Amino acid sequence: MSVSAYPAIALGRGSTLDGDMMGEVGGAVGSVPSGPLIRIENLQRHFLMGDEMVRALDGFNTIIEAGELLAIMGPSGSGKSTLLYLLGGLDRPTEGRIWVNGIEISALEENALALYRRQEIGFIFQSFHLIPTMTALENVALPMVFAGISERERGARASDLLARVGLADRMHHKPTELSGGQQQRIAVARALVNNPSIILADEPTGNLDSQTGAEIMGLLAQLNEDEKRTILIVSHDPAVTDYAARAIHLLDGKLVA
Ligand code: ADP
Ligand code: MG
Repeated sequence: MSVSAYPAIALGRGSTLDGDMMGEVGGAVGSVPSGPLIRIENLQRHFLMGDEMVRALDGFNTIIEAGELLAIMGPSGSGKSTLLYLLGGLDRPTEGRIWVNGIEISALEENALALYRRQEIGFIFQSFHLIPTMTALENVALPMVFAGISERERGARASDLLARVGLADRMHHKPTELSGGQQQRIAVARALVNNPSIILADEPTGNLDSQTGAEIMGLLAQLNEDEKRTILIVSHDPAVTDYAARAIHLLDGKLVA
């Protein structure tokens, strides 16, 4: 298969969030490959630091099914963020392969990888990564600018998503006028705008108190349940495993259990 064929291939997903907003990949026709949504084989990511080679990932293998809410646990430095960046197409492996619905994303050229990132992946970060000068509505609408969606559609879609995460009455507030939990809700809404099949969350509760962290985890679990979105959460917070159907553990860049 040519890697440039990526845009024509559907990543199987049942969409319930007014569906075909993107139209491009989500609505594409063609046979959806059988097998797991994600397959990772012998994943390696090494960084040369001075004289030392840091093996952030050192032979990681796993299979993730569509619709899973998976917790990827591990101590600081075990390779969790590195794994999410590779899965999200933000970084390239040193060795090994990542397949997403039959497509080897580790072999995609840059434009196809950017398209994969924009159409299939939603990111949520520990520190929210919101733009401080923009309102909640503008922050959520922003990724749709790059997807070429009309301003009217962007506003409608962003306000629907903000209502979905419980912020209907805070749309015109800026991040500094909102609590940490509310800021993370904006980030969750933003992660959903392009209707991604996979949500990648890097320590999403890391900057929140335990009660607020539980609310965010409840929201992610609900998105998984209601919309069958595949959600991968990396964390060292044991409370995260209460919400996940399955947990795997990383240590020194390898799977331990
Ligand atoms: P975690 O998210 O589990 O805390 P990371 O994936 O961030 O772990 O990092 C795993 C290891 O790789 C750490 O030892 C870290 O210092 C190293 N590392 C990560 N990114 C880089 C980088 N860009 N350059 C050098 N070393 C890195
Ligand atoms: Mg990390």
